[in-house]
Amino acid sequence: MTENGFRAEEIDTSRPHPARIYDYLLGGKNNYEVDREAGDRLAAAAPEVWTGVRANRDFLRRAVRYVVGSGIRQILDIGTGLPSSPNVHEIARELAPDVRVAYVDNDPIVNTYANVLLRGSSATSIALADLRDPRAVLDHPEVRQVIDFDEPVALLLVAIVHFLTEAEEPERVLATLRDGLPTGSFLVLSHATGDFADRSAAQAVYDNATATLNLRSRAEVEGFFGGFTLVEPGLAEVPFWRPDAPPPTRPGEIGYYGGVARKT
Ligand code: SAH
Repeated sequence: MTENGFRAEEIDTSRPHPARIYDYLLGGKNNYEVDREAGDRLAAAAPEVWTGVRANRDFLRRAVRYVVGSGIRQILDIGTGLPSSPNVHEIARELAPDVRVAYVDNDPIVNTYANVLLRGSSATSIALADLRDPRAVLDHPEVRQVIDFDEPVALLLVAIVHFLTEAEEPERVLATLRDGLPTGSFLVLSHATGDFADRSAAQAVYDNATATLNLRSRAEVEGFFGGFTLVEPGLAEVPFWRPDAPPPTRPGEIGYYGGVARKT
């Protein structure tokens, strides 16, 4: 065990990890040389990635405010990422102090940092679980501890579904999660796309990472909202989803789609 309480063999510093690459791009400190190299290669292949991750994070903030403003008091955030201020529970509690948040990630380092961050709070939890086994996510004791699946839930899948390959059947994963949520729940989802520029070189950066990057078209991303009704303005490029300030970029510059939808 290290002094931070995790087993050293769980932290693989030989291969880039998506959570740590993303942390590096956001200006965080929880990353290693392999992650910074991957991040720099990604930015060389897709220079908008620096503003892109920021725009995605801003979308997350606005979407969380939207669902809490719509009455949601429980959030299931799958693909949490490393702590990044403000975190989801902090954004939500600015509007409603009683919001409960269950975080889920399959990266042990995310789990460790979240445990430290959330220590002592009974209204938050962190589960080490994998989106590819959605039933196990829904049944996880740490999730059940804070989420009551008889009450509406906001399910956050923000910048994670593009780490699932077609063989991992993202449609099936989404369907299982949707069926586990009661009416009145929300889906908040963002996803990387190659619709605006050839991003095969960016995709290749993840080839030796712990997860591959699977860019998808607008129609494919829209398909993930099956069984939900998108709220206005529908699926949008993330800077243009209900902006609360003038968007920093023009349409077609940021390769992330985002949307919020309600289960009716
Ligand atoms: N949702 C945050 C962080 C996105 S980074 C945001 O948008 O700001 C993507 C996160 O998904 C990383 O923390 C990575 O570890 C996690 N992740 C990737 N594949 C996963 C999987 N199959 N199951 C669970 N978590 C996964």
